[in-house]
Amino acid sequence: MTTIGLIGGMSWESTAVYYRLLNEGVRQRQGGLHSADLLLHSLDFAPIAEMQSSGNWASAGAAMAESARRLERAGVGCILLCTNTMHKLADKITTATNVPFLHLADVTAKAIRKSASRRPLLLATRFTMEQDFYRDRLAAFGVEAVVPDVAERNDVHRIIYEELCQGRVEPASKARYLEIVADALKRGADGVILGCTEITLLVSQADFAVPVFDTTALHVEAALDFGLEAESQAA
Ligand code: GLU
Repeated sequence: MTTIGLIGGMSWESTAVYYRLLNEGVRQRQGGLHSADLLLHSLDFAPIAEMQSSGNWASAGAAMAESARRLERAGVGCILLCTNTMHKLADKITTATNVPFLHLADVTAKAIRKSASRRPLLLATRFTMEQDFYRDRLAAFGVEAVVPDVAERNDVHRIIYEELCQGRVEPASKARYLEIVADALKRGADGVILGCTEITLLVSQADFAVPVFDTTALHVEAALDFGLEAESQAA
């Protein structure tokens, strides 16, 4: 299997899920004592979150590029950026390195295209819901993501940063997410994108009748497909 490179720590609560799912996926596919060959660069999230909230995307982009270069020097065969939000800066990574980059919005859009959903609700940070970088990338695949209203977006965002990224999973917040999804379904949404890698800690497919697109799980599956295909080509 090719070495999977992870840029993580944003937050580590979701990176820990990546680590577990990658290893479980390799065990499922290869059995026995097989586990994932990976390299993780886990950043300190506090300064990154500060750059996000102050709009200092230039410094955040430089941090992403530097992390990707370190993984490239260490010999990874692909790079995963373990956060939807920081895909705003995906081009900083792809121009800094020559390693294949598995773009999370592309992976998600391909999964949506395989389903009947074309107008999924995007639950994510305010950056991802309100700026163009993610919705436009989905739109290029014919997926028209819809977003919650402004008060709902504020709650979705606050719960991510103040709770999920800090290891708190609160029943009241889950109830709020369910309410927000129910509202969107009434307005014509036909699926739900868990478009922030921590949301999988709070809700899952089991909570909804419409298709759910869990970006963390989809990213992991794409990495496993890539890593194991690279191995079979090398054999
Ligand atoms: N992990 C989150 C995401 O997927 C939010 C934290 C961040 O801003 O990176 O967007």
